[in-house]
Amino acid sequence: MSGEAILIVEDNEISLKLVKILLTVEGYQVMTATDATEALVVLEKTDPKLILMDLQLPGMDGLTLTRLLKSNPKYQHIIILAMTAYAMKGDKEKALAAGCDGYIPKPIDTQSLPGVLANYLQAKKEDAP
Ligand code: MN
Repeated sequence: MSGEAILIVEDNEISLKLVKILLTVEGYQVMTATDATEALVVLEKTDPKLILMDLQLPGMDGLTLTRLLKSNPKYQHIIILAMTAYAMKGDKEKALAAGCDGYIPKPIDTQSLPGVLANYLQAKKEDAP
């Protein structure tokens, strides 16, 4: 299952490029932003099904941006998956508390990421009326 629009919010150029290529190959329509401000501009014009959210961003961090989006009826339907270093203990809990739908540890496992995303998108679809 692919073709859905996905927004990647990631300030690390190499990580961004890696995930973008991976998801583009899978057939997703990929949009990118390198900080919260840019993400909000992209969201004004598009309606992604899912956001891959780096938590450590310059300026407004990913947790704050997630809270902002999940408190806005216009955006709260979007699946948000946090991306953060596995070593950061407690980050998973913080991500879920902020409203993230899930959590993807970094470094990104390129083998499993497409399947993980497909599962979240499928689950959301089955959830919907
Ligand atoms: Mn970062």
